[in-house]
Amino acid sequence: MIPKTEKIWMDGKFVNWDDAKIHVLTHSLHYGLALFEGIRCYETEEGPAVFRLKEHVERLFKSAHIFTLKIPFTETEIYDAIKETIRINKINSCYIRPIVFIGYGSMGVYPKNNPIQVAIAVWSWGAYLGKDAIKNGIRVKTSSFIRNHVNSSMSRGKVAGYYVNGQLAKIEAVSCGFDEAILLDTEGYVSEGSGENIFMVRKGILKTTPLTSILEGVTRDTVINIAKDLGIEVREERFTRDELYISDEVFFTGTAAEITPIREIDGRVIGSGSCGSVTGKIQNLFFDIVKGKSPKYKHWLDFV
Ligand code: PMP
Repeated sequence: MIPKTEKIWMDGKFVNWDDAKIHVLTHSLHYGLALFEGIRCYETEEGPAVFRLKEHVERLFKSAHIFTLKIPFTETEIYDAIKETIRINKINSCYIRPIVFIGYGSMGVYPKNNPIQVAIAVWSWGAYLGKDAIKNGIRVKTSSFIRNHVNSSMSRGKVAGYYVNGQLAKIEAVSCGFDEAILLDTEGYVSEGSGENIFMVRKGILKTTPLTSILEGVTRDTVINIAKDLGIEVREERFTRDELYISDEVFFTGTAAEITPIREIDGRVIGSGSCGSVTGKIQNLFFDIVKGKSPKYKHWLDFV
């Protein structure tokens, strides 16, 4: 169960958590077009700080642009509303879920003039893939389901309906005893997880999939930046699942998953079978940054 907080921001007003309700004929519930974000706020010595809030709000508006939906608030209004939602709920660290959806009105695929609604909820959410995952890594399965073609889903958008594809992969992986799935793209190259981007380390070089068929992850960008800072060579290029099998380290990145090592793929142990040294270095710096312990990256923190 989601641990409740007091208030949810809905269409410009705060309502009680239990009153944040919508009609069962809400358009997005039927046809899957809702744009959302996943953001984290971390506790720091200077109070709660949202990590890369500006980039997340920008991505939300870019998602709307791709689908020609007009959000009835400005970026600044949403940005301020997110901070206000954290303040009003008096929470020091949380996951933040803004969602833009097509409301009740007409039915049928074409959304016509239905209202565009926005909600922002916050709640406490620990490690997405389990307590042990960040430290010791997870076991993943290459999915039999292919990530949506780039001309079927516009991968730069973060859209509710895309997660049907992700859920097929995740359900399959979990039912086979794994923690998470890796989806291949329509050409057979590695794309990403059901809710994470993926990185591999081989011979000291860090590689991640190019942006052509994946979500443009904020954590991915963070890792690329901090790896360069640590003097690690970073390449954005396509790779195959067998290159993952023979790599020294593999890890997932995502707001929810943070930096989660992958210790096994399709029954093959990866590297040492635990969190690798490069992954560990990146992880340490990442957690220092989000917790306000790295002056160089303070500009990524938005104090509430
Ligand atoms: N890919 C997918 C499919 C995702 O759902 C997410 C989570 N938003 C990511 C990658 C990672 O993105 P971010 O680092 O911005 O959370």
